[in-house]
Amino acid sequence: MRNRVMALDAALLLAIPLQAATHKALIIDGENPYHAWKENTQVLKKLLEDTKLFTVDVATTPPKGSDMSGFKPDLTAYSVVVLNYNGDAFPAETNAAFEKYVRDGGGVVVYHASSSAFPEWKEFNEIMGVGGWGGRNAGSGKSARWRDGKLSLDTPERNCGNHGQRLPFLVTIREPKNPITKGLPSTWMHAGDELYDTLCGPAENLDLLATAHSDTSNKGSGQEEPMLMIVRYGKGRVFHTTLGHDAAAMSCVGFITTFDRGTEWAATGKVTQKVPADFPGADKPSLRP
Ligand code: ZN
Repeated sequence: MRNRVMALDAALLLAIPLQAATHKALIIDGENPYHAWKENTQVLKKLLEDTKLFTVDVATTPPKGSDMSGFKPDLTAYSVVVLNYNGDAFPAETNAAFEKYVRDGGGVVVYHASSSAFPEWKEFNEIMGVGGWGGRNAGSGKSARWRDGKLSLDTPERNCGNHGQRLPFLVTIREPKNPITKGLPSTWMHAGDELYDTLCGPAENLDLLATAHSDTSNKGSGQEEPMLMIVRYGKGRVFHTTLGHDAAAMSCVGFITTFDRGTEWAATGKVTQKVPADFPGADKPSLRP
């Protein structure tokens, strides 16, 4: 009996570090036109929880057009805030708290269409780097492209924020030394997804980690457009992925891996997750059921 208890104790001791999710993440959602945002939040939540590194809470705003004054999530309780939101403005107090959170070292993940949010909020645009739609145009800032082996800040040639049909496309790593992209194949085939082009914004303190060619035959810009990027704002770390329109696009192991790694980096500045064996190569997408 005593041996059995000791064995049980040992098993528990071994189990605790494996099961302890160490980082707290908050997903903010509540509005996102043209997107199944409730479903997408559930996918993002599960992806983070599956890493065993995160516990995940969700803060959902009141519905469109209703009183937003009570929406004041306590961001200081979290290592990283994941944005899956494109809707009505937050209260000024919440905007100020978000800016302070990032300035003081908080992590942020800008996911897909959340870069369409808040065209009028100056600091938000600085935090995410570049965004689209919402009336954004050449007056909103520069488009961050890859040209001649480096970041090029271009004057947008058309309104900011476009995409063609959702087709698979090749993603090319441009910064292989960043912890998020370290060890990934230099090119990989992403599942059918919206390939955003001509996002624009302040694009300050921004590094491109990965780009994709936006093909003019699919209404694209003809440029190497940002797919994964990071922004430094104050002491904060921002990971911005333009990928992941829907659950099908998010079943891509390339999306899953870079989202999970990007969120860990935003939370801690490090990445402890290994590259999975089913990560896609250049020839075809790799999907998980
Ligand atoms: Zn979309």
